Amino acid sequence: MTAYRTLDPEGVKHFLAARRDLAERLGGEAQDWTVREVSDGNLNLVFLVFGPSGTLCVKQSLPHVRVDPDWKMPLDRTAFEAAWLRRIEPLAPGLTPAFLDFDPEQFVLTMECLNGFVTLREALSKGADPIAPSRILGGFVARSAFLTSYFAQPFEAVAPDLAFFSGNTTLTRITVDLVLTDPYREHPRNHWLPALDADVAAMRADPRIIARIGALQERFLTTPQALLHGDLHSGSIMISDRDVRVIDGEFSLYGPIGFDCGLYLAHLAVAHAATNDVARKEALTAAIRTFWRTFCSDFLYLWKTQANGADLYTPTTFSNAPHELDTLRAHFISGVFHDAAGFAAAEIVRRLIGYAQTSDFDHIQDEQSKADRQRVALSFACDLLRDAPADIDAFTERLRQDTDL
Ligand code: ADP
Ligand code: MG
Ligand code: MG
Ligand code: MG
Repeated sequence: MTAYRTLDPEGVKHFLAARRDLAERLGGEAQDWTVREVSDGNLNLVFLVFGPSGTLCVKQSLPHVRVDPDWKMPLDRTAFEAAWLRRIEPLAPGLTPAFLDFDPEQFVLTMECLNGFVTLREALSKGADPIAPSRILGGFVARSAFLTSYFAQPFEAVAPDLAFFSGNTTLTRITVDLVLTDPYREHPRNHWLPALDADVAAMRADPRIIARIGALQERFLTTPQALLHGDLHSGSIMISDRDVRVIDGEFSLYGPIGFDCGLYLAHLAVAHAATNDVARKEALTAAIRTFWRTFCSDFLYLWKTQANGADLYTPTTFSNAPHELDTLRAHFISGVFHDAAGFAAAEIVRRLIGYAQTSDFDHIQDEQSKADRQRVALSFACDLLRDAPADIDAFTERLRQDTDL
């Protein structure tokens, strides 16, 4: 047993040099390796290591929030990320970094280094096409959700994962507080531009909005439909010219599938609200539709072709009523959409007024213009919470109308 120590670049070299299979991937000796810290998230340390014959990515949790050392936090989040990666990698081949190693004493996850990739957030801010990655992401969420759900396997196969991931209480607490609670109460973690004061007050005073948030809290904690990524924003996705990878599964838990869908949609919607370029808005709107349509068609296709052994909606039960099965499946997908629209709204709100905000508005120099763009994003989110859209076309139509300045 080696006591936990926070890694620095030299520590990363020592760590890898002591692990033959990892060191062999890099080639040469420790003195031939270059270590670059690339931590940019709120929570963890991430290092990229370059050797003569290969590269690695090393991620370690800290005993506190990376960007706030006074906010203490247990170390086990990398254990959940490692377990998520091992579970999802075979279900969505080529759509995550390859898992290589997890050290449960140092809380170090070692994985494939994604050379030549940038986060989708960064790519989008530089004008990258949002449609192609959204199609791939729709397929990713369909596969990872369907194949870990009760629709794909007997309940005995779900039980161990459900038990294990329900232990991810530290990061589930972060979601419950930062996404689903803090924005609707006074809390020192919240902050926003003074120009939004009246908008925030009006949101908190609206009984329909508060009722919907209560319902979303319930859905999040009491609807274990599938193994979620749990933090599927555009900074948890990396893209290259040819590929898309989902990273950072430390928030993984069993929950409502619409949560992952909603987070992804929220970040496209925020990017849409943050630009006044009409062509860019259209591309982002098309990406939203593409994500959702791909999710639906892939999920339904898997349901029709890979439901053997499942205990829910078994084809034998419906052999005399196949039409009813189609109706129930369509109803389920509508429920996922309803959840997705609600969670998308909650995510937009928290990225505007909560602890961890987005960089999408940072390019706007003028405070007044920035506040105006944030206000329309907030009003779109409030609109979704007040009155749920019926389908994805209603969602994008609201986005177009509400964010038109
Ligand atoms: P956190 O949990 O702190 O948010 P992330 O897993 O999101 O950490 O990683 C932080 C950053 O490190 C990412 O934005 C990305 O730039 C980089 N990164 C993470 N994983 C990899 C990887 N496998 N290959 C290359 N870069 C990575
Ligand atoms: Mg991250
Ligand atoms: Mg990041
Ligand atoms: Mg993270």
